[in-house]
Amino acid sequence: MKQKITVLGSTGSIGTNTLDVVARHRDHYEVFALSAATQVDLMLRQCAEFKPRYAVMASAPHARLLAEQLRSNGLATEVLQSPDALEQIASHPEADAVMAAIVGAAGLAPCLAAARAGKRLLLANKEALVVGGALFMDTVKRHGATLLPIDSEHSAIFQCLPEDRTSWPDRVDSLLLTASGGPFRLRDPSTLSGITPEQACAHPNFSMGRKISVDSATMMNKALEVIEARWLFDMAPDKIKVVIHPQQIVHSMVQFKDASVLAQLGTPDMRVPIACGLAWPRRIASGAAPLDFAKLSALTFEEADAVRFPGLHLSWQALHASEGTTAVLNASNEVAVAAFLERRLAFDRIHAVNLRTLETLLPPTLGSLEDLLALDAQAREIAQTVARQWQL
Ligand code: NAD
Ligand code: MG
Repeated sequence: MKQKITVLGSTGSIGTNTLDVVARHRDHYEVFALSAATQVDLMLRQCAEFKPRYAVMASAPHARLLAEQLRSNGLATEVLQSPDALEQIASHPEADAVMAAIVGAAGLAPCLAAARAGKRLLLANKEALVVGGALFMDTVKRHGATLLPIDSEHSAIFQCLPEDRTSWPDRVDSLLLTASGGPFRLRDPSTLSGITPEQACAHPNFSMGRKISVDSATMMNKALEVIEARWLFDMAPDKIKVVIHPQQIVHSMVQFKDASVLAQLGTPDMRVPIACGLAWPRRIASGAAPLDFAKLSALTFEEADAVRFPGLHLSWQALHASEGTTAVLNASNEVAVAAFLERRLAFDRIHAVNLRTLETLLPPTLGSLEDLLALDAQAREIAQTVARQWQL
């Protein structure tokens, strides 16, 4: 029987890479549903190629346009338009696996819907876990969902850890997340205010969505990944470390109690963790080139520079603060990055907005998804106000 896959965010960098892997294994996988925000043309092409049962667009006008174009091209894909359409395709009884590749907290509700339906959940959408935290992990556990990390660092750690989770506290000392250091690793920190969105999005090794590209340049991406690792692997925040590794060949490491370290290596190509998550515990071809060790000149490691990357340390601060603080940090960062990409905020003010928002908003006690979404909205409002004060 073929596995039926729902891809949330199918037109993005992770979404298109996922479909690339799926297309290599049409005998094992078929696309059940696709979703995107605004890219109707690409969605139409994906529907023509993968013939999903359902497609979802983020707004009604885009959904109408897609429905018209599907009809005029004689394609049978049905466009769902209800407010809970994403949750519907994430939890549909016929979907076996859900690739969560929406960017930002917008992906949280469909992730939780997939978890509640006990799906195999392939998580690229790190912000959903950063916001959802304990609630997200409890939902996965309570409903017997299978959560597989797609973020390359977390996939690496997942592959290095012993399969028996209950043995981790006895055996594992710490997790070592590698970071590329982004495009400004060697740039004079005093010149960072003049960085343009184009410069920030020119990542040295990967072509990624614009938001994660900016996060890589500020190292907020690594901050979010520290929080992601804390939840995925139930690890104390102080047992999660970050080391800069510009070549991005070692994708992350696990240090054991006896000081032995296991690392996962490979070419920097997101199809590797995607194929790993899709097929786990089987292994399938990803399309990525194998590592050529004869051509690797050096693998280097260095400490992250706290002056150049002040945002990195917000992860540990937020994890040590009250529950919900990581959701506030994420919301503020989404707002600040959007303002930077729209040229309303200087690059080095992204951190300033995050810091000010964290200082301003003390999260209330949280119980439900509604509480979290309300906190997310409140943090966004504060971050908008702060960003406006520093508007360019
Ligand atoms: P992207 O911007 O290329 O794609 C995002 C996708 O989500 C698109 O299909 C877009 O249409 C859709 N989308 C955006 N906003 C939406 C909304 N409000 N509602 C519904 N759909 C929406 O981003 P990406 O680089 O593919 O990243 C996706 C996620 O994967 C992010 O959370 C990112 O941190 C994570 N991730 C990406 C990479 C990478 O190499 N690109 C690596 C690791 C993790
Ligand atoms: Mg990553």
